[in-house]
Amino acid sequence: MSTMQERELQNILVEELMISSEKVAHVQLNNPLEHALLVLVKSGYAAVPVLDSSYKLVGIVGKTVILNEILGLERFEIENLSEMRVEEVMNSDIPCLTRKNNLVDGLNALINHAFICVVDEDGYFDGILTRRAILKELKKDIYMKHYKK
Ligand code: AMP
Repeated sequence: MSTMQERELQNILVEELMISSEKVAHVQLNNPLEHALLVLVKSGYAAVPVLDSSYKLVGIVGKTVILNEILGLERFEIENLSEMRVEEVMNSDIPCLTRKNNLVDGLNALINHAFICVVDEDGYFDGILTRRAILKELKKDIYMKHYKK
C-alpha cells in the first residue's frame, strides 16, 4: 500500500498545503484603491487578502468590487481610485482557517471561495489555502486509490 493510501485525508493539515504569508500578494487597509487594483492586475489574481498595519487579517478585496465601486452612470470614474481606500470596499465577512485545520475543513471552506485565508490564534495572517492545492491533493488521493491498486 502506498504512503498516500495509508494517509487519511483528515490527517493532512492546512499547514502542509498552504502558501505561506511571505509568498502571498496582499494590500493594506489604508491603501488607495489605485494601489490595490495595480497589485491585482499585475499579479493576475482575482482577489487578495487585506491586512492592517500589524499584519492582522481584516478582509479580502477583489477586482470586481473595485471596478463596480468606480463605475458611474456612463463611465468609470477613475479619479475615485485615488480618493477611496481599500477599507471602504473590502469584504470583511470571510471564513478563515488555522494551520492545524485539516484538508477536509479546507475542502468544505473552499466550496464557495477560490482561496481561504489562514490565521494564527491572535488573528495574524499566516497564508492562504487555494482550491488548486486541495484539488491537487484530492487528485493524488483518487489516483492512488483507483488507478494504482
Ligand atoms: P489558484 O487556485 O492558484 O488559481 O488561486 C486562487 C486564488 O487564490 C487566486 O485568484 C488569488 O485570488 C488567490 N491567490 C493564489 N495565490 C496567491 C498569491 N501568491 N498571492 C495572493 N493571492 C493568491
